[in-house]
Amino acid sequence: MLSNEQLLRYSSNILMKEIGETGQQRLLKSHVLIIGLGGLGCPASQYLASSGVGQITLVDHDTISLSNLQRQTLYSSDGIGLSKAWQAGHSLSRLNPDIRITAIEEKAYEGNLDALAEQADLVLDCTDNRETRYLINQSCYRLNTPLISAAARGFNGQLIALNPGQSHGCYQCLYPDAVTEPLNCSNAGIAAPVVGIMGSSQALLAINYFTGHKLAWGYLQTFNGLSQNWQQLYLPRAASCPVCGGQNAHSN
Ligand SMILES: [Zn+2]
Repeated sequence: MLSNEQLLRYSSNILMKEIGETGQQRLLKSHVLIIGLGGLGCPASQYLASSGVGQITLVDHDTISLSNLQRQTLYSSDGIGLSKAWQAGHSLSRLNPDIRITAIEEKAYEGNLDALAEQADLVLDCTDNRETRYLINQSCYRLNTPLISAAARGFNGQLIALNPGQSHGCYQCLYPDAVTEPLNCSNAGIAAPVVGIMGSSQALLAINYFTGHKLAWGYLQTFNGLSQNWQQLYLPRAASCPVCGGQNAHSN
């Protein structure tokens, strides 16, 4: 049962038949783990908090720097040098005191990822480095937790929703060898709205998932911010993939 304040706070969600009061209740019962509070994690967490996802866990070990402010919309100049996780947690709690925010100032690594991911219904990979992306993918496949991963560089972005219970490929299938560099916004330039679009898209997919809508699992979606063109490509499972192929493969 939603309170009068919740009915008002989430009225724009509730008015849509695609969400409604039932969908809002589902959102409030959901727990999302957001790893990385940079250009992707800021808009993703803002929209999920404002939409009333009931429990949000934020993980980032980094501190705010001046060069982040071009795209990391939860921070301001007076926060430079402070923890991203804490600052994001503080901003989101003020945005929506109706939900529970947990800020963890740690780097996501093998030692903490399983414990973090198993408490969540869904994981958003908003990191900017390949090693952590591989570890998040492995952890989600081990625990059978759905994962929404995004990346951006320059005017280009990409997005993929991975469901370990389905037969499509995983992040390791997409980048099977360590030489292939995925998109990274910290070592190359980035158009701020492009990373915002990708982070917002992660939030949108999360809301769709929590409210029972179908996702295009296993389809890599790429966005070109210059031509404003989206493309979609199915990612097949690689039989040799150490994470989702061979003996570890889940059947559909
Ligand atoms: Zn794989």
